[in-house]
Amino acid sequence: MSETDLEIYMFPCLRDNYGFLIHDRRARVTAAIDTPDAGAIEKALKAKGWKLTHILNTHHHADHTGGNAELKARTKCTVVGPRREVNKIPGLDIPLADGDIFRFGSHMAQVIDVPGHTNGHIAYWFAEDRVAFVGDTLFAMGCGRLFEGTPQTMWRSLQKLMALPEDTVLYCAHEYTEANGAFALSVEPENRDLRDRMDEVRRLRAGGRPTVPTTLGLELRTNPFLRPMSRWIRGRLGLPDADPVEVFAELRQRKDSFVPPAA
Ligand code: ZN
Ligand code: FE
Repeated sequence: MSETDLEIYMFPCLRDNYGFLIHDRRARVTAAIDTPDAGAIEKALKAKGWKLTHILNTHHHADHTGGNAELKARTKCTVVGPRREVNKIPGLDIPLADGDIFRFGSHMAQVIDVPGHTNGHIAYWFAEDRVAFVGDTLFAMGCGRLFEGTPQTMWRSLQKLMALPEDTVLYCAHEYTEANGAFALSVEPENRDLRDRMDEVRRLRAGGRPTVPTTLGLELRTNPFLRPMSRWIRGRLGLPDADPVEVFAELRQRKDSFVPPAA
């Protein structure tokens, strides 16, 4: 790791969230991406010997902002987050929206509006570092539930992420991969890349290891929510000629009521 690299430290929080710290050694800045659990974040900071200077929130849900107040009170850090959720995010100092750039030491995060899971949800894309923090918008082999947006809104958001370079490393906020993969296999069992990936995911989880981060390239090949053009998926859903957004909507609806087969 060179002096100028963006250092990333990932750790489990709550039931199935991930916490992330990012650090620029030369600039001596450290940010928590969301605050699922103040205690777990304090512990991670201590383990790394880093001092919290920023919180970067992706959306307002409690498992992403629950530690804001406590961490801000204790560290006087600056809270950055979505402008459209300014009234729902505790302690928000710097509201951002699509196209804004947030400078973090020598690194630059481009803000991408990705409404759907919540209406103000944003992603942070560190283009030069080939990294994006996508919160609850895109998961490994899955996508966020549509709590506030429509399928159309979410599909448009996912298309923005699909346009990033394929080698972009994606940090999503939950370990939902095994259940997501079971659904993915149920709608596209013909997909060889998907079957291979699930073998790997089961191995990792059996060993208690994380499946996050992922890459955009891998998601494009195996995530059904990014694959509404797949003829296999279309065939299975009985929607051979539908618009991608209709296929996406049907997938999202089926996933909401999907019960994974017993292992
Ligand atoms: Zn959420
Ligand atoms: Fe969440």
